[in-house]
Amino acid sequence: MVVGDHISTLDTPSMIVDLDVMEANIAKLFNQLLPTGINIRPHSKTTKSAILAQKLVQAGAKGGCVAKLSEAEVMCERGFTDLLITCEIVGAPKVQRLVELFRKYKSIRIVVDSEVGARAINDALEKNGIEEPITTLIDLDVGLHRTGVQPGEPALELARIVQSCKHLNLIGVQGYEGHLQHLHGREERKHQCLESMAILTQTAEALRKAGHNIEVVTTGGTGTAEFCVTVPGVTEVQPGSFLFMDTDYRNAVGSFYQHSLFILSTILSKQGPKIITIDAGLKSLTTDSGFAECKTLGYTYGVLGDEHGSLSWEDDALELKIGDRVEMVPSHIDPTINLHDFYYAHRNGVIEEIWPVDARGKVQ
Ligand code: PLP
Ligand code: MN
Repeated sequence: MVVGDHISTLDTPSMIVDLDVMEANIAKLFNQLLPTGINIRPHSKTTKSAILAQKLVQAGAKGGCVAKLSEAEVMCERGFTDLLITCEIVGAPKVQRLVELFRKYKSIRIVVDSEVGARAINDALEKNGIEEPITTLIDLDVGLHRTGVQPGEPALELARIVQSCKHLNLIGVQGYEGHLQHLHGREERKHQCLESMAILTQTAEALRKAGHNIEVVTTGGTGTAEFCVTVPGVTEVQPGSFLFMDTDYRNAVGSFYQHSLFILSTILSKQGPKIITIDAGLKSLTTDSGFAECKTLGYTYGVLGDEHGSLSWEDDALELKIGDRVEMVPSHIDPTINLHDFYYAHRNGVIEEIWPVDARGKVQ
């Protein structure tokens, strides 16, 4: 498959991106957030693509995020090195990998939420004779209860420990309010987000009062970034899903950002007057956030196993035949992308760019 071909010539299932819509999503985000003066560090856990991270920098982003160390390894190899790794790096194998990554790429930023975690990284850098300290943020629990040290005295205590670690350079705090991203109702989402932001910025202030250097206060996702940027003291937001969106996000936050990524699928078999079978099942579309939808309204999707799905309809005008193609809208974009090797990015059906999913399968 080459640039210039039409998507109708693609084999299926294939992941396709409508460039006009994706570019409009990027423009909307940057037009809304950049004037506030906030730094935008988009989360590449969604795209797993160095090319897309680079495109976002061209649009105004300052660096990017990845969730996992193994994603950072791939992104750095592909030339994208201004990265915050937003998950804690714990365990001897991973800490050693971090040392090797940091040896080559000094711009890597990490988060810690425990004394054990902080000391292990500090000791490994010491043992490996790496002089330069690694840029470190304290990960704070602002209500998600996933990772993060508790606010108040535990955060102050951890900051003292990080400060005492010669190989860790404390520059800020991360507090991700992931439990609020998909909260239905804009006012409720805003209200709860501002509560989380109060925890985050008050902790940042308390750390500063205790003498720590807190330049970076990073937070936010697609569902909350517009609220985070209004809070004095927040310096950076990390949205990811806005680029492509999915049905779960749309149902929660509406259609400010629109669907730009679809799974192109072929009708393989007819199983009744108003039901057919497509070649996209669990290995092409994830179901943790409900079933995918057809881009064309009026069809109901059902899973028929690993390789197959069904589409049924009521209206005769929606009749589908064997060999026809449909575009499916994922229900949860991040794990769906992780199922595919390439993005076929097209404008009005003509493929303009093909991007590898560089960090596909990188979960370590
Ligand atoms: N920041 C962190 C730490 C995350 O885990 C995520 C997503 O899970 C994001 C930012 C991006 O959020 P979203 O994809 O909702 O924009
Ligand atoms: Mn997700």
